[in-house]
Amino acid sequence: MPATKKPGNRQQDSGRSTPGSLPGGSIGSDEFAVGRYGKLFNSFNIDSEGRISAVELGVRLRESGILESDPRVADVWAELRHAVGDKGQTWIDLDGFIGLCKNGGGVVEKSIRGDFVIPDFAALQAEISTIFEGLQSVHGGHVADYIPQLGRVDPEKFGIALCTVDGQRFAIGDADNLFCVQSVCKPINYCLTLEEHGADIVHQHVGREPSGRGFNELTLNSDGLPHNPMINSGAIMCCSLLRPAWEMADRFDHVAETWRKLAGGGAVGFNNAVYLSERRTADRNFALGYFMREHQSFPTGTDLMETLEFYFQCCSIEVDAQALSVVAASLANGGVNPLTGERIFSADTVRKCLSLMSSCGMYDYSGEFAFVIGLPAKSGVSGGLMIVVPGVMGVCVWSPRLDAMGNSVRGVAFCKELVNRFNFHVYDSFAAGEVSGKRDPRRGKIEEEVASTIRLLWAASQGDLDVVRIALATGKDPNSMDYDRRTALHLAASEGHLDVVRYLLDRGASPTVQDRWGGTPLSDAQRGAKGSVVTLLESAAALVV
Ligand code: GLN
Repeated sequence: MPATKKPGNRQQDSGRSTPGSLPGGSIGSDEFAVGRYGKLFNSFNIDSEGRISAVELGVRLRESGILESDPRVADVWAELRHAVGDKGQTWIDLDGFIGLCKNGGGVVEKSIRGDFVIPDFAALQAEISTIFEGLQSVHGGHVADYIPQLGRVDPEKFGIALCTVDGQRFAIGDADNLFCVQSVCKPINYCLTLEEHGADIVHQHVGREPSGRGFNELTLNSDGLPHNPMINSGAIMCCSLLRPAWEMADRFDHVAETWRKLAGGGAVGFNNAVYLSERRTADRNFALGYFMREHQSFPTGTDLMETLEFYFQCCSIEVDAQALSVVAASLANGGVNPLTGERIFSADTVRKCLSLMSSCGMYDYSGEFAFVIGLPAKSGVSGGLMIVVPGVMGVCVWSPRLDAMGNSVRGVAFCKELVNRFNFHVYDSFAAGEVSGKRDPRRGKIEEEVASTIRLLWAASQGDLDVVRIALATGKDPNSMDYDRRTALHLAASEGHLDVVRYLLDRGASPTVQDRWGGTPLSDAQRGAKGSVVTLLESAAALVV
């Protein structure tokens, strides 16, 4: 049986990668990195040469939801593909592994540790797949046919995609078919107006109450303003506020560029046929425009025709479900794209937008949707639906058949299924899981507790005083134990880390605490013959009565 080489035996290594394995350069000589990543490395199957399989690493990344198109790990996947292509050699040594962990900006490490907002991503995928299959038999509703481009869409199309705030992704069905965003452009344009002018100015021109009326109804509030930015009149108003002094082309670029940033490399395009059709069949939107002009609701100097054209262009932006799920995830993540790390909107802008999506995002089904589903969402007449689970994930459902209010039938049905299974309704936190029968797939308090204990114990065993300091400074009990009742002091003593032992003792760690086998930090240090640590622990233990 081949001997398994563990990272602990690395003194004999030349530090060079074996042929066919990924290069690691000098990275492996970094003691700290070996300590930090060595145990992760050991969680894989290791061959007789001390290497792990690139295929296994790829599988682990995919299982946790880290896809090949993820820009954070583009280099990692390129390396993995390179390794696979090399005469079938698919091996990575520790140096190579450390290089990959460092390349991925922490994503690879988190993925292997299961340290994401949805730790059991496979279970969530399975649930979403079950919901997807169940909804295939739902055929209610009709596709929008006010323009031929929408009327011709295959009504059976159905795609779901999701992206968590950690960038874990999953898609099923027609998730890479392009569709025009239509009303889903409204929250994005609203965010842009907030960023440009601030809420005070924006809301001099548009209200923030649900209208209780259809999305394109000829109605204004008692101040002569559109009721909110999520219906047509309000969205036209937002368009009038967006970079009004700029050339039309630049105004559109500004919006399209924002979509691209929100989608983090996902598919974002423009459907010119939809735009031309929208413009030709827009009597109601023209009427809304004139109605608002009559009430002097627009900012001074607004060019109504340009504003309407700009609105039609924004409605004609195309995405696929995968891209829209990343857009939704950027909102779920407080305005920072989880895949690129780029901040696109301020947290304050996103909070305001999500508030209005919650109260007004689903046309005149919004009240019922808030009651039953309890999540901010926005639908469009093309059958796209963007759902935000704040702090957790963004979801897109695309299915073109609409109900009488203009919302995707399967989209709404999906939301009902989702919140029946998971406690994602914003007020679900008040209902105990056992009572509601709903599950919480998020990394919970227990997991957090376990994770922080592991972090402390790990740092103590590695002699990483900085991490130990941070753990205790953030309130971690210095006597926290793992399931074998081992404490940070046991581990630091076993490994002979004098500075960590001293620090823990100063902060109240017990020198006499017994682990599962009756071992104390002192007996651990004695077994390892760690002279100065033994002396220190002996005097500390002597003080314990
Ligand atoms: N382009 C459509 C309109 O203005 C968008 C409306 C919608 O998606 N509800 O009528």
